Amino acid sequence: MEQSDLIVRRIKDGTVIDHINEGKGLQVLQALDIDGRRGNVITIALNMPSGKLKKKDMIKVEGRFLEDDDTNKLAVIAPSSTVNIIKDYKLVEKRRVSLPNEIDRIFRCSNPDCVTNSNERIESIMDVMDKETLILKCRYCSRLLDVSKIKY
Ligand SMILES: [Zn+2]
Repeated sequence: MEQSDLIVRRIKDGTVIDHINEGKGLQVLQALDIDGRRGNVITIALNMPSGKLKKKDMIKVEGRFLEDDDTNKLAVIAPSSTVNIIKDYKLVEKRRVSLPNEIDRIFRCSNPDCVTNSNERIESIMDVMDKETLILKCRYCSRLLDVSKIKY
């Protein structure tokens, strides 16, 4: 058993996002819109000791199962994360996040004149140009987007 399991309580149904890159936990919360307003229990652990990374952040969300869009977002912000889906106290699915070549809908283009920011309600499509530095490119207007500078 990992030390981290001892510190935060087990959940019945929900998602455990583990091995979040150190310092990215709060950003993940924002990006996934995990704010506790729905009344579900959320446990956040920052700077946990970890064998795999030096330190890691971890988030447990009761009563919510992450969708594919969430997993893609996670891949962009915290690529070392693992997503554990828990049902009835049992681990039913473990996903490693991986960065797709294309990210749809999640990020808005930073170009105000881009068609995706017009009234036409066109969903954004971003090509991942560089998986290390996380540079995305809008498919409509070719504007480059630096994910590390995005405010959620
Ligand atoms: Zn654009």
